[in-house]
Amino acid sequence: MALAMVAIAGLAAPLWSGAAAQDGDQATVVDARVGDHGDKTRFVLEVTAPRDFLLHAELAPHRLIIEFEDLGWPDAASAGGAGMIRGYECTAMQLAGMRCVLTLDGPAAVRDIFYLPATGTVPFRFVLDLEPSDDETFAQLVSTPVRAELEADPVPVALGIPLPPRRPGSQAPVVAIDAGHGGIDPGAIGVSGLYEKTVTLSVALLLRDMLEATGEYEVFLTRDDDTFLRLRDRVRLAREADADLFISLHADSTEGDSIIRGASVYTLSDRASDQEAAMLAARENRADALGEIALDPDDDMMAEILIDLSQRLTQNESNLLAELMVEHLGEATRLLPNRAHRFAGFAVLKAPDVPSVLIEMGYLSNAEDEALLASEAHQQAIAGSIADAIESYFTWLADLQRS
Ligand code: ZN
Repeated sequence: MALAMVAIAGLAAPLWSGAAAQDGDQATVVDARVGDHGDKTRFVLEVTAPRDFLLHAELAPHRLIIEFEDLGWPDAASAGGAGMIRGYECTAMQLAGMRCVLTLDGPAAVRDIFYLPATGTVPFRFVLDLEPSDDETFAQLVSTPVRAELEADPVPVALGIPLPPRRPGSQAPVVAIDAGHGGIDPGAIGVSGLYEKTVTLSVALLLRDMLEATGEYEVFLTRDDDTFLRLRDRVRLAREADADLFISLHADSTEGDSIIRGASVYTLSDRASDQEAAMLAARENRADALGEIALDPDDDMMAEILIDLSQRLTQNESNLLAELMVEHLGEATRLLPNRAHRFAGFAVLKAPDVPSVLIEMGYLSNAEDEALLASEAHQQAIAGSIADAIESYFTWLADLQRS
């Protein structure tokens, strides 16, 4: 039988990287609900950790069956439904795992299926959105089960440990824009002499103007002129400004290969996604050496553990932000082939409680990229796509808090 593998952003391993689930850890369902949202019916399972699942369909009556590996539900339940779902029943499977059978009132199509990351006291959520369809579409689901596999063991969520809200009130979100390099640190230097620090500042200023024009954000710039800033000061300034997002702007350069071009978006990881990414992080982090002071190791063990926990929660948000950035940047500029969302240990991404991404807007070592990055029209396009991604991110966040 054919299997459809789903590539779900929320299922990418890095969303839950950082620590592997311990052997024998049983993930459990905490709650379930069905909601009628008009044009879609949503089935939600709150779980302590995301698990692989297989979804298939049966006819007469129309039913969807979702089988989760290594997932249990002490109060395995059945309940009535809403919208297109007449009711559901979740029971333990013979060997391991759990099966949920949703009885539908007709043929449905899977509009969306994903895990939402845990935030604060809210656990991970398995979300299935259904919309009405026809028998032909439903028949495809019957013949082609959907299998979703997590690529790595997810991080189990410690439930019942409320994290303090990042800040009280609900003012306009604060977006921190960090123009890379500056002052004595020019950053990369293009094939015809363009400085990275010049491009990053231009785009930062354009982006600030665009975001401020919407009236929906407060914008904080780590620098708005040609000054030198240490990496840790960039992070500190953004945190002091109560930033909800941290966006660091850069342009890449590579020696000996002037053909490589395209934009990429980085999020924090202990392990770089490849050697090139590790070298890039080393290059960007080296900027601090110019400020004569290395990052200071002011960590006693407890602080490190707390920061680690907080960082992991923030990382879920950073990764989603990065996926949105890649999606929107792709409309404005060429992306680095293969994987435009990458992972590396950039010092500037290490704020434990502020979702952060680093954008390499293109390669100054490539003549075409350099010419584009020098043009105001292209800088406008890039700034516009970043602004779009920021808007999508906050829409997603609002959605998340409602669901
Ligand atoms: Zn840079």
